[in-house]
Amino acid sequence: MCGIPVRTGGLGVIVGIVNEDSASRSWASSPATRKSMKNNRSRDTKPELAVRSAVHRRGLRFRVSERPLADLRRTADMVFRKARVAVFVDGCYWHGCSSHHTQPTTNHEFWADKIASNIARDADTNARLEAAGWTVLRFWEHEDPEVVADIVQERVRSARTSD
Ligand SMILES: [Zn+2]
Repeated sequence: MCGIPVRTGGLGVIVGIVNEDSASRSWASSPATRKSMKNNRSRDTKPELAVRSAVHRRGLRFRVSERPLADLRRTADMVFRKARVAVFVDGCYWHGCSSHHTQPTTNHEFWADKIASNIARDADTNARLEAAGWTVLRFWEHEDPEVVADIVQERVRSARTSD
């Protein structure tokens, strides 16, 4: 084992609930799928698109891949400016999901460091956004998009009404 830190939801961060029985098993079920997920670093990943369209179907409107704060070089996957809610759909591999992160056999140290620094950066992003009055919602790409969209909807609505 590499000692990749397990992410925890501190500082009022809402971390999406992992549902082991449904979505989590499906996507990483074959080595080929895992391989393609590992290689896919593009912005518009399939899980992200599924979440976006599920949220959109609920009647919510948002900005895609934008900086919540102009002077902070961090991009959220969905940004709800009025409600000040930033949503991130984190890739299981790059952000170190404990259910799906697989240890590479070569350059082990390099990748472990890389993923550890991504995790640290995620925590830093959360802290900075929260300090600026934002609600940060983070989900894993393996989570059921409909469940994720329900949580996003509820949080955006409640943030709006509390204004
Ligand atoms: Zn995962």
